[in-house]
Amino acid sequence: MSSSSSNFAINIDESEHLLKAEDTLPVNTKAINLDVSTKSSLLSNWAETVHVEEDKLVRYPTTKVEIIDLIENNDKIRCAGAMHSCAPLIASEGIIMSMTKMDKILGVDVDTKRVRCESGVRIHDLCTELAKYDLAVGTLGTIDWQTISGAVMTGTHGGSLTVPSLHAFVTEYTLITPNCETIVVSKESEPKLFSALAPSMGVFGVVTEMEVQAVPLQILEARMIAVDFDDDFIKSFQDVMESNKYCRVVIYPSIKKVTFWTANPVSSRDDAIARGAVNYPGYCNFRNKAEKVMLEEYLILCDLGEYEGADDVLSQVLESQLERLNHYVGQYNHILCKERNNGIPHADIEFNFDFKKNVEVLTSVMSYCEENRVPYYNLEIRATEQDDAMMSCCQGRDAMWIDFQAKADVATEFFGDIEKTLKPIGFRKHWAKGLDHTDAGYAMKQFPKMYEFIALMQTIDPKGKFRNNTGESWYNAMGNLIEDMDGNEVEDEKKVEDVQ
Ligand SMILES: Cc1cc2nc3c(=O)[nH]c(=O)nc-3n(C[C@H](O)[C@H](O)[C@H](O)COP(=O)(O)OP(=O)(O)OC[C@H]3O[C@@H](n4cnc5c(N)ncnc54)[C@H](O)[C@@H]3O)c2cc1C
Repeated sequence: MSSSSSNFAINIDESEHLLKAEDTLPVNTKAINLDVSTKSSLLSNWAETVHVEEDKLVRYPTTKVEIIDLIENNDKIRCAGAMHSCAPLIASEGIIMSMTKMDKILGVDVDTKRVRCESGVRIHDLCTELAKYDLAVGTLGTIDWQTISGAVMTGTHGGSLTVPSLHAFVTEYTLITPNCETIVVSKESEPKLFSALAPSMGVFGVVTEMEVQAVPLQILEARMIAVDFDDDFIKSFQDVMESNKYCRVVIYPSIKKVTFWTANPVSSRDDAIARGAVNYPGYCNFRNKAEKVMLEEYLILCDLGEYEGADDVLSQVLESQLERLNHYVGQYNHILCKERNNGIPHADIEFNFDFKKNVEVLTSVMSYCEENRVPYYNLEIRATEQDDAMMSCCQGRDAMWIDFQAKADVATEFFGDIEKTLKPIGFRKHWAKGLDHTDAGYAMKQFPKMYEFIALMQTIDPKGKFRNNTGESWYNAMGNLIEDMDGNEVEDEKKVEDVQ
């Protein structure tokens, strides 16, 4: 099913989703392995922040024997899924092991509602298979092009205060470790490693298979309304998040508007249609093609400094979305994966906060937007239920996420600014987004189990076979902070307290 565009040799197999030059934007000039002169022969991630020479570096194993052979014969390896992470997670000084050819769905147990699959299966393929049994993937981000393993490895989340991130639905992993041991990791068999394994950005070896708890397939009735970006919005935020199953808030700072998108399960499409919902038989995207064109025009006008014209265009987009998405009904995955098509590539940075801090976060963001013209058209906010994975951004508390986006040329400065504004509140950053501003000491404070994670990582992979230079530099910085404290005789819990 592989295909390639004229510019890139790319292994993304959905024709709608081929990376085309006009769909993509180089977002990070600090790209790994980037040699612009030979770019046309490079394989790029979705955001074009990582470019690799496919022939030299990328391997596509199809069996566990091939994986073990690759581990034995290479000093440096990074796994890759669908390459949708913006952060340089798949960049490797050795080889990249793409798991995309290990994509079989091995079986669905309808009694336990569990599905067993190879790790490189695409989430949309899982959704399609599970739907045959009236089942669904436990949570979904705004796209479903990712591999299941790639998504759990970065802590991919959806937008519901009563649904945790995707890794919380995994019941078992088959892992091939850096010393080529195959182990089955479940909460019962290996509780500590299970908690560390996802999200872990692939530092423990190669996940080859997974068992995932599915959930009943829902039909969702969705609505979108717009309100002003003002204090009343901040007051109503928590209630809207708590009283709807799924919710996504999009702020349009330059026109001081906010949309609340909500979706709730219903017993049948017909009931929703009787209430006036438009029936969507397939995916319902936040942006249709015409709206995408208008948003691109908005960005061009902003570049030219023609803000009044730009804001008129943005208001038209909003009107169009409100008319189209005001009230509709469709199948769970078709409704939740709302950025699936017509995306405009951009850099992003996504912050995660304790949900209880929502008023403080929104108030800070609002004052920032009053004092500065934000260089992109929107900010996006969602919420996620807590879980107990060591490195999960939602570890130990329900969370709200806020995602900032920007074009490449202004992203670094803007994200740095935003980071400074929000730092006093205390955030954890999405592992797939915006890691270039990472401050080791701050991350240690925000992830209380980081020490335990680093210790386990060093035990399982002492030579760093599965770590790239960027990752290694963060872990070293964190390791140094730990050493700077009271030395090895100090208990783990004490070290975490000290760092905090
Ligand atoms: C348009 C868009 C929308 C998005 N929406 C959301 C969203 O709504 N919510 C959200 O949380 N995120 C979202 N993301 C981020 C996305 O879910 C993550 O970047 C995810 O990790 C991508 O999965 P992938 O298969 O592309 O993995 P890759 O990006 O290829 O890899 C991710 C990590 O997984 C590791 N890995 C992959 N496979 C294995 C394996 N078999 N064994 C060990 N390690 C492995 C890699 O080494 C890497 O560290 C979005 C991204 C894009 C581009």
